[in-house]
Amino acid sequence: MINVVLLAGGVGGAKMAEGFDGLPGVALSVIGNIADDASFHGLWVSPDIDTLTYSLAGRIDRRQGWGVADESHRALAVLKELGDDTWMTLGDRDFGLHIYRSHALARGQSRSAIAAHVAKTFGVKSAILLPTDDVVQTRVRVAAGWLSFQEYFVREQCRPEVLELEYEGVEAAKPTAAALKAIAAADFIVLAPSNPLVSIAPILAVPELRAALAAAKAPVWAVSPLIAGKVVKGPADRMMKALGLRADALGVAEYYKDVVDHMVIDTLDMGLAEEIMALGKGCTVLPTLMTERAEKLALAAGILRMAQ
Ligand code: GDP
Ligand code: CA
Repeated sequence: MINVVLLAGGVGGAKMAEGFDGLPGVALSVIGNIADDASFHGLWVSPDIDTLTYSLAGRIDRRQGWGVADESHRALAVLKELGDDTWMTLGDRDFGLHIYRSHALARGQSRSAIAAHVAKTFGVKSAILLPTDDVVQTRVRVAAGWLSFQEYFVREQCRPEVLELEYEGVEAAKPTAAALKAIAAADFIVLAPSNPLVSIAPILAVPELRAALAAAKAPVWAVSPLIAGKVVKGPADRMMKALGLRADALGVAEYYKDVVDHMVIDTLDMGLAEEIMALGKGCTVLPTLMTERAEKLALAAGILRMAQ
């Protein structure tokens, strides 16, 4: 068995997780992003962890990449009727999970224990770990002031230019024992093709977790979420530009340069390989666009083959 640890956000992270999860001979632990978490209607919602769980459990809505397949929205309609803000789309089956999580939190369970129970119950084979059991929340400064991540991402649909990012609570956050153990036992660590600034950075910003990654014996690789200078989906390219970074695979390599040993970039970005290697990093070129399951498995297998 080869122990793979994947650091992952939501949609891009879940696709890469499905790739490693589906390979024989791989024991996968995914450390997911909790900095998008927020309270809605009094319930604790953890969008990236749920996207990972639903994807690995085969419950995901494949068309949109998040949420539960075959979903209805009758509870949300009632909340709207009663005057609550309903810009965050939460389906009925999804609500069931948020009710469970909120109730378990009120009973004193940790967020990581809840995530593990949900994953196990839904039939997820891989381990879904949290970077911390503390609350860390990304905040986004735009011209109008500071927004929560979901206000920026869902309510404002990423339209305002990002002026500053903050991972509130991260300095004091303690890593979970399970995340530290997985990192120490890893044969191979991969940063998924997720948004570097709001999916991967909040995980890396947990101080002792960052130190554990630096101390790990396993090589750390990253897959670029930018292909030919563009995102597959989401605001990562615009965010990177707005914050003064290059919005391409080289910019991702520069951003990760203190953490990562090796970059995986798309075939379309072959021309950037030399500059990435000039940073002192290894570089592997593979097809990285994952639409079908076969592409997810092929990318994961390709990465492991190159790493060995
Ligand atoms: P979110 O939390 O749902 O926003 O998802 P992530 O942060 O995990 O992933 C968003 C990033 O994934 C975006 O920057 C996309 O460009 C990237 N992404 C999505 N699908 C793919 C893919 O098939 N291949 C690659 N290389 N990147 C992808
Ligand atoms: Ca996310």
